[in-house]
Amino acid sequence: MTKSVDAIIIGTGVIGTATAFELAKKGWKTLSLDRNAQIGHGSTAGSCAIIRMHYSTFDGTAFAWEGYHYWRDWADHLELARDADLAKFKETGCLVMKTDGNGHLVKHMENSAALGCPFEEWSSRKITEKLSIYSMESYAPARRMDDPTFGQSNGSLLTGAVFWPKAGYVTDPALSSQNLADAARNRGADFRTRADVTDILQDGGKVKGVKLANGEELYAPVVINIAGPGSSIVNRMAGVLEDMTIKTRPLRQEVVHVPAPEGFDFETNGTIISDSDIACYCRPEHGNHILIGSEDPECDPHQWVDNDVDYDRNFTDQWTTQAMRYAQRVPSLGIPSRARGVVDLYDASTDWIPIYDKSALDGFYMACGSSGNQYKNAPIAGKLMASLIEYCEAGNDHDTEPLRFRLPYIDREIDAGFYSRRRLINEESSFSVLG
Ligand SMILES: Cc1cc2nc3c(=O)[nH]c(=O)nc-3n(C[C@H](O)[C@H](O)[C@H](O)COP(=O)(O)OP(=O)(O)OC[C@H]3O[C@@H](n4cnc5c(N)ncnc54)[C@H](O)[C@@H]3O)c2cc1C
Repeated sequence: MTKSVDAIIIGTGVIGTATAFELAKKGWKTLSLDRNAQIGHGSTAGSCAIIRMHYSTFDGTAFAWEGYHYWRDWADHLELARDADLAKFKETGCLVMKTDGNGHLVKHMENSAALGCPFEEWSSRKITEKLSIYSMESYAPARRMDDPTFGQSNGSLLTGAVFWPKAGYVTDPALSSQNLADAARNRGADFRTRADVTDILQDGGKVKGVKLANGEELYAPVVINIAGPGSSIVNRMAGVLEDMTIKTRPLRQEVVHVPAPEGFDFETNGTIISDSDIACYCRPEHGNHILIGSEDPECDPHQWVDNDVDYDRNFTDQWTTQAMRYAQRVPSLGIPSRARGVVDLYDASTDWIPIYDKSALDGFYMACGSSGNQYKNAPIAGKLMASLIEYCEAGNDHDTEPLRFRLPYIDREIDAGFYSRRRLINEESSFSVLG
C-alpha cells in the first residue's frame, strides 16, 4: 500500500504535534506517525512541563519568553473551545537560587531585562518568609550519598534568589500534545499511531518517504524527524549523521515525587524552584506532593542508553540521592520507603541546546536534541520548523544564509542558525538540563 502527502512527521510528542499544527495552518497536508498507541506518550508524557524563562544564552531566553505566551493563551492558540478538555498552565512563578555555579544569575537577569521579561530579586529572608520549610544552609558542591560529607553544610548561607513571576507548569503534558493534534486535525492533518518507522526512503539524494515495520511504504517529498530520544536512530536511518557537529543521544532521568512536609501546603504556596546549590529543581505536584528533578551535577555519572525503547524503567539509588539532596534544603521532608515518580529519557545534544534544522539529505528535516528543556518551547518550535521548511523548500540555503525568524509575541527577530546541526558547540550553554 502506498500513500502520498506533503510531509510526513515522525513523532507525536509536543514538538511533533506543534509542527503538524503549524504546517497544517500553512496549508500543508501532513501525516504524523508514532509507534506508540497514543499521541504524546513519548518523553512528553514524562516531562515535568516547567515553563520558565531564565536561560544562560540571550537567544535561549528570547525563545522561552516567547514560548510562555502560547501556554498563557492556550485555548486561543489552538483555536479550540475554552471548555474543551485542555491542558492547564499553572502560573506559580519560578525561584532560582543565586549560586557561584550560576554566576549569581547576573547574565540571566541581563537577558530578561533586555527582553522586558519581569523578574524580582529576593533576599534570603523573603525566601524563608514565603517558604517556611526552607533552610538557607549552603551545601555546594553536590555530592553522592556515599560521600562521608554528604549532608554537611559548607559553612556558608545562600544569599538570595531571583523570582520570575510568569513561570509555571502544565498539569498534563500528554494532553497538551493531544490538544495540538486535535487543533492540527481541525486544519486537515492526519495522525497514525502504532506506526513504527524503520527506514527513510530516498531517491537520487532526495528523501522519498518512510518504510514502516510492517513493510508498508508511505511517500512524501518532506520527512521531519521529531522522534525525541529516538532521533539519532532516525537520523542514522536517513544517513545524515556525518555532517552534524552536534549529536543527540538518549539520557536516562529519574524524577522523584514525595509528599510535602505536614502542615505546609506546597501545592498552593509552593513555586518552581531551581537550586543549583543542591543540584535539584522542584515544583508542586498534585495531591500536595513535591516533584524533584536533578540538575545533573558533575558527581552523578550520566546514564546514557543505547536506544529509546529498551532501558531500565525502575528507580535506582538515584531516586534516593535526589530526595536526600532536597531534604538538605527542607529538613522536615519525609521520604517514603516506596519510590514514586517518573523514569524517562532526555534527547540530549552535545551542548544541551536543541537542533531545529534541515539535513544533508534534501527534504529531510529535524527538530531534536531537546535536552530536557524544550517542552516549554514546543509551540514556537513548531512555528520555527514550519517556516524553516518553507524557506528551504523555496530553494533557500539555510546553511549559508540562515532563516531570520520573527518571534510574533515579543516582536523580535532571531537567527535560526543558532539551532543549526552544524554550529560550533555553544560555550555559553550550561551544558545541563538548564540549557
Ligand atoms: C523527565 C523529563 C523532564 C522534563 N522536564 C521538562 C521541563 O520541565 N520543561 C521543559 O521545557 N522540558 C522538559 N523536558 C523535555 C521535554 O519533555 C521534551 O523536550 C519534549 O517533550 C520533547 O518532545 P518531542 O515531541 O520532541 O519528543 P517526544 O515527546 O519524545 O516524542 C517523540 C515521539 O517519537 C516517537 N518515535 C520515536 N522513534 C520512532 C520511530 N522510529 N517510529 C515511529 N515513532 C517514533 C516516540 O514514540 C515518541 O512518541 C523533560 C523531559 C523529561 C524526559
